[in-house]
Amino acid sequence: MAGSIEATPTRTTQRSAALFAEAQRVIPGGVNSPVRAFHGVGGTPRFIARGYGAYIVDVDNNEYLDYVLSWGALPLGHAHPAVVEAITKQAERGTSYGAPTELETELAALITEVMPAVAMVRFVSSGTEAVMSALRLARAATERSVIVKFEGCYHGHADSMLVSAGSGVATLGLPDSPGVTHGAASDTVTLPFNSLSAVERVFSDRGGEIAAVIVEPIAGNMGLVLPAHGFLAGLRRLTSANGALLIFDEVMTGARVARGGAQELYGIAPDLTTLGKVIGGGLPVGAYGGRADLMRLVAPAGPVYQAGTLSGNPLAMAAGLATMRELAKPGAYEALRVASRALADGIADCARRAGVAIQAGAVGGMWGFFFNDGPVIDYTSAKRSDTARFARFFHACLNGDVYLAPSQFEACFVSLAHDADAVARTLEVFRRAFEQS
Ligand code: PLP
Repeated sequence: MAGSIEATPTRTTQRSAALFAEAQRVIPGGVNSPVRAFHGVGGTPRFIARGYGAYIVDVDNNEYLDYVLSWGALPLGHAHPAVVEAITKQAERGTSYGAPTELETELAALITEVMPAVAMVRFVSSGTEAVMSALRLARAATERSVIVKFEGCYHGHADSMLVSAGSGVATLGLPDSPGVTHGAASDTVTLPFNSLSAVERVFSDRGGEIAAVIVEPIAGNMGLVLPAHGFLAGLRRLTSANGALLIFDEVMTGARVARGGAQELYGIAPDLTTLGKVIGGGLPVGAYGGRADLMRLVAPAGPVYQAGTLSGNPLAMAAGLATMRELAKPGAYEALRVASRALADGIADCARRAGVAIQAGAVGGMWGFFFNDGPVIDYTSAKRSDTARFARFFHACLNGDVYLAPSQFEACFVSLAHDADAVARTLEVFRRAFEQS
């Protein structure tokens, strides 16, 4: 099935195949993050040699229009000159000091400016670390244990969050991961995304135990699923009324769907926010921030311990600052929005013409689609999608030099380098892919 889909690729993939074989000898599954392995779609993962603008080029010299963009981290596209210059200049001065730099304060100040609910920020090295640290802080601040999360939302791979965690976990078919103890998972309550009544029920049953509700305000890790009208406002109301904290995990949406993330788009002020991806401009980064009274509990200002050798790394700070400054230029978010919308509307149109049922959507610089004949509002409805059909479509696109995320349960992204011409070419590839798959 999925494995045979690529039996007749129109592109040579010999070098990728050889590198993948060698990688599997020394790296588990040959990759350093599961979804890269193409398990959801079959075939050989492409080993990438370089990227520029909207394109990536693999080791067999195939060039693809890239809609993964390092899983959303590159809203300027690959190797943007401003980012390359910032990183190069910083590298010449040193790559890490283990002592504070001005860059950290500059990026923190910029984040507090674009996200008014974030008064203070602590930088870490990944989104996983940001979430793990925010949960510790929430538990310390409330002196409660239970965290409420939503099915299909991914918050990194900290033990307590590997419960109904979407994307990579969904693609691999692992409901939970071995190695996560009952103890670690038992303080996590998982509810259906977009179900405010489920949240109401859990607060009425266990309100006094709940430290925080954590949510991807726009879900991107079960495919793109938008919050229902009133869902986020309802979470804000219920958490405030019950003395629990509201955590927006904006690792994916922060500075991508709008400068101030989903919290700007929906006008909701969470107590804590987690960030990553865009704010590091393609270098390893994470951050958590929020109300000053909460953030002052973090060491050394307060007793909640959290630290990191490479936290606030100057290369990552320089890349993040350069990225955020480019995005501050007039028209940047409008351009991302227009490209995403054109792709979502365009793929829906191609599908309609081909008589194929899909659900497509877009928000800011994110877009996505499901091979699904009903509305997708949560993980249960997302899982009804036709994943075999997605795999065929994915490979037809890949053969047409369009690189989508290799899983039905991932969002797609655009960058400022995805101009009208790139979008038009992509839609032509989609049109042919529907005919072939
Ligand atoms: N939270 C969300 C919403 C994410 O999308 C991700 C990664 O995709 C994470 C957390 C984990 O971030 P990282 O992969 O940097 O650990």
